[in-house]
Amino acid sequence: QRAAVQAAPLSPGALTDGTEVPLLANLGSPKGAAEAVELGAEGVGLFRTEFLFLSSDEAPTVEEQTESYTELLQAFPGKKVVVRALDAGADKPLSFLTNTEEENPALGLRGLRALLTDEQVLDDQLTALANAQEATEADLWVMAPMVSTVEEAQRFSELAHAKGLKTAGVMVEVPSSALLAENILGEADFASIGTNDLTQYTMAADRMLGSVSHLQDPWHPAVLRLIREVGAAGQSTGKPVGVCGEAAADPLLAVVLVGLGVNTLSMAPAALSDVRTELTLHSAEKARAVAQAALGASSAAEARKAALAASQS
Ligand code: PEP
Ligand code: MG
Repeated sequence: QRAAVQAAPLSPGALTDGTEVPLLANLGSPKGAAEAVELGAEGVGLFRTEFLFLSSDEAPTVEEQTESYTELLQAFPGKKVVVRALDAGADKPLSFLTNTEEENPALGLRGLRALLTDEQVLDDQLTALANAQEATEADLWVMAPMVSTVEEAQRFSELAHAKGLKTAGVMVEVPSSALLAENILGEADFASIGTNDLTQYTMAADRMLGSVSHLQDPWHPAVLRLIREVGAAGQSTGKPVGVCGEAAADPLLAVVLVGLGVNTLSMAPAALSDVRTELTLHSAEKARAVAQAALGASSAAEARKAALAASQS
């Protein structure tokens, strides 16, 4: 009997000089885990827990959450899995957590702000995550969405560590957090840049609104300069910085992000292959040069053009 033919594992994300750039998956359900592994995900960089409860009228119980998180972690033994606390509000309202009366929900009680108004929901979620960590072998990291102050970062870290969760970080999605990245990283174990919201808030353009969608472009040098702040803070503090917004799925922009000091990239699993291939074409020095070229531009279109020219020179 012939042995089953096993596909060779896909090579991990890396630049030509060997600099490792782990390529991780964005997931909204444990169901997507197997496909992500098949496509070469080296772990999970963003698990959007709110997607599990979009149709729930009541806050999920500790038990049902423990079950979902355990299923997710079991798919990634020994691998890093970053789970985001519920990001309720604005484009992702949860009926048990979101006040739908707000006139500007994107600027209201969303993400960690909403969780800190109802700490029982956050407490239950962190308990379920701690249970799942206990029951599995994955390397669980937890992070808070929509953090805009150092105090919020400090509060989330304190609550997560108190539950026995070893690695607690924050998303950088608001310009205030990018500008104070070094202070934020003083309170958090890592940062993950959410470029979808960071672009929305930098450009003051609702990400859900078609009429301003031309402004929702993470190539804009204003967004890139904020990412540079976070990359530099990661390097000065020695704390890891990832990107988990759509920007990481654009192969040339992925090179720019690495050149700005980003250590890991997380994306929809379908994008992993093209990003992996593009990274193998450049050294760390070249990535920095490509990033510099993009930073010097005055528009998103110019930044793209300048980065492309630098990448080919
Ligand atoms: C982001 O804002 O870039 C992000 C990754 O989070 P979400 O898209 O779920 O808001
Ligand atoms: Mg976001």
